Amino acid sequence: MPIATVNPVTGETVKTFEPLGPDGIEERVARAERTFRSYRGTDFASRAALLASAADLLDKEREEIARIMTLEMGKTLAAARAEAAKCAKAMRWYAANGERLLADEHPADADVQDSGAHRALVRYRPLGVVLAVMPWNFPLWQVVRFAAPALMAGNTGLLKHASNVPQTALYLGDLFHRAGFPEGCFQTLLIGSGAVESVLRDPRVAAATLTGSEGAGRSVAAVAGDEIKPTVLELGGSDPFVVMPSAAGELDHAVATAVTARVQNNGQSCIAAKRFIVHEDVYDAFAQRFTRAMGDLVVGDPMKESTDIGPLSTEQGRADLEELVDEALSQGAQALCGARRPEARPAGWFYEPTVLAGVTPQMRIHREEAFGPVATLYRVRDVDAAVELANDTSFGLSSNVWTRDEDEQRRFAADLQAGGVYFNGMTASHPAFPFGGVKRSGYGRELSGQGIRAFCNVTTLWYGR
Ligand code: NAP
Repeated sequence: MPIATVNPVTGETVKTFEPLGPDGIEERVARAERTFRSYRGTDFASRAALLASAADLLDKEREEIARIMTLEMGKTLAAARAEAAKCAKAMRWYAANGERLLADEHPADADVQDSGAHRALVRYRPLGVVLAVMPWNFPLWQVVRFAAPALMAGNTGLLKHASNVPQTALYLGDLFHRAGFPEGCFQTLLIGSGAVESVLRDPRVAAATLTGSEGAGRSVAAVAGDEIKPTVLELGGSDPFVVMPSAAGELDHAVATAVTARVQNNGQSCIAAKRFIVHEDVYDAFAQRFTRAMGDLVVGDPMKESTDIGPLSTEQGRADLEELVDEALSQGAQALCGARRPEARPAGWFYEPTVLAGVTPQMRIHREEAFGPVATLYRVRDVDAAVELANDTSFGLSSNVWTRDEDEQRRFAADLQAGGVYFNGMTASHPAFPFGGVKRSGYGRELSGQGIRAFCNVTTLWYGR
């Protein structure tokens, strides 16, 4: 894949970039390792000040970077601005909380005594150079949610961003540098995916984190496993959105939330609700209102404030989505709306918001992630069927359940196989809450204390009597 900005609204190549050659990569890896040796010894207060300064710059430059993101991957300008603001918030959150989250831990006196020590404690020390392989769908946020905690913990970072967001990738490297981080703390490597393996195998690289598809996760984890290096993997998802009868009184709110949960980021979000599992008592009302609301969304130029849904980010992404939908239709699924390219938009990679009913387990769309504005609707008769269907996927990122019944809430909280269960709302990441999945959605957690400790050497310090 060439490293280039290609406008998904028109399909035009706006700017191409030469990938870094072996010398350029060597220079940056060496610098990252050299910088780590001194940066690891800095105190939390100075790291926090640097992060806060990066947040201030990002706030000041929000409009500019938002336009770059929209140009490169087609999210609406409003969504891009919100993403930039969210990044600044996460930086400030780690600046304010990093030291507390990494404070020394003191085992109980009795256990210290029992171990034969006069003193023992656990300290979180940085690991070293961390390689981050990142996707285009939240081109700023995915990177910042790794970079803010990693830098706060005293690590240095190397970013291999998706090949279709090079300008955002370069902006990020520049941002941390301008904020005052020593050169080498955070660097962008403009490289293709074929160059990832050799960087990861470099002995100066201590660990890796990857957000992206299952295939990319599998290859990076295999190399890291071979090198015995820790990884965090944030992969795909096909989150359920369950609606039970006790939500009948707030169905309009549930429907509005369902639409946002499905089409946020033009439908290209790992934590988007993708499968809508609705109890038979409320199914007809939900299906009718949901379909109408999806059909009413405005598809168009993402730079325009009136647009709800922009194009898909890549031509291949739209082709994959179309194939999933067309195959389901040919096997008997029904399109309640959409299922085609908008006639008014012959150029670019647009796709109409789509609702499919009559999906069966034999169809690929039942098992695979639909990465675009396509919802599948299922009718279930009771809570057991809802839980079973929600778990009938190889993914386990997050989940959404609408019910005011406390017994049902306990049941879903206990039995849904996912890294999150969000009741009467939709999944959204927040710096204070762990984020990540189970099954083929990956392993490890980002954000919160878990996210900052992921790239630490958890060290036992033991002092004999
Ligand atoms: P992708 O094709 O896997 O790309 C992600 C990153 O991995 C890119 O930088 C890509 O580089 C690189 N890459 C691809 N194949 C690789 C390989 N074999 N070895 C090393 N690196 C490789 O994914 P995407 O299409 O950009 O993103 C969509 C996927 O990401 C969806 O499945 C989505 O659900 C998932 N995602 C998950 C989360 C989460 O938090 N769980 C968040 C966002 C997205 P190139 O661009 O150069 O190919």
